[in-house]
Amino acid sequence: MSNGSSSPPPGGGPLESLGDWEDFVVSRYPEAGSEPADRQKSSGENFRDYRAEARACVREFYRLNHRHQTRDFVRAKKHEFLRLERREMSIWEAMEFLDTLVDDSDPDTDLTQLEHLLQTAEAIRRDGHPRALILTGLIHDLGKILCLFGEPQWAVVGDTFPVGCRFSEKIVFHEFFDENPDSRTREYSTRLGVYEEGCGLDRVDLSWGHDEYLYHVVKPYLPDEALYPIRYHSFYPCHREREYEFLMDDRDREMFRWVRAFNPYDLYSKDDRPPEVARLRPFYEELIAEFFPPKIRW
Ligand code: FE
Ligand code: FE
Repeated sequence: MSNGSSSPPPGGGPLESLGDWEDFVVSRYPEAGSEPADRQKSSGENFRDYRAEARACVREFYRLNHRHQTRDFVRAKKHEFLRLERREMSIWEAMEFLDTLVDDSDPDTDLTQLEHLLQTAEAIRRDGHPRALILTGLIHDLGKILCLFGEPQWAVVGDTFPVGCRFSEKIVFHEFFDENPDSRTREYSTRLGVYEEGCGLDRVDLSWGHDEYLYHVVKPYLPDEALYPIRYHSFYPCHREREYEFLMDDRDREMFRWVRAFNPYDLYSKDDRPPEVARLRPFYEELIAEFFPPKIRW
């Protein structure tokens, strides 16, 4: 249902905190063994009605996201942001800049963005993964600075999905795509849409957000093992639901190993004890310097 206007609303959004979206993702993909036994029993064949459980602000967030993320919108945002003409900052400066993002959430229960990044990186480090993957944990959400550039929540976070071909029914809140004009565009409504079988995900436009933006910022400096999780960590329809694999090429299939290795650290590393930033900083400054020049373009 359209009200006749497809222009997106101005900045801000319905979520109290960007973490509301991440909490909802964790509720959909609980860590193995973390669900209460009664919930597991009542859920029958692992079925839970996430839509019924989602808070109203989360529903509204997805409604806006699915309605406004059209192929034209994605291409316009790439044109607008990927020239990287906004700032020059070091990685650590970008982390501190992101940490100025103040949500309306409860500061006692929600982690700051900086704390989430450090906890993710520390969990990867504890498990002995390569340094590039530790660095991925440290930086993977820096694209959320899009919020500080005035972008609305639904154009910064949310599960990502291809535009220009049919929206998979396994995308959460699929019904909200009824309001997306691309659903009524014949060229975009077939399984392949504008793409070719096995064309490779690099040729596919995914819905716009913090993943794609950061990928382009850091692309010159990092190996694929880091770039794939950065670019596709919110692509739940693919790395969790196994949809859209017909768009992948051999390299994508090989590298999604790293997307899947990374995802649990992003979702399940949250810890109430805040990381000791000052103590950890020297290790991470050295890690950053191993891959990045002192300043990069954003
Ligand atoms: Fe993220
Ligand atoms: Fe994250």
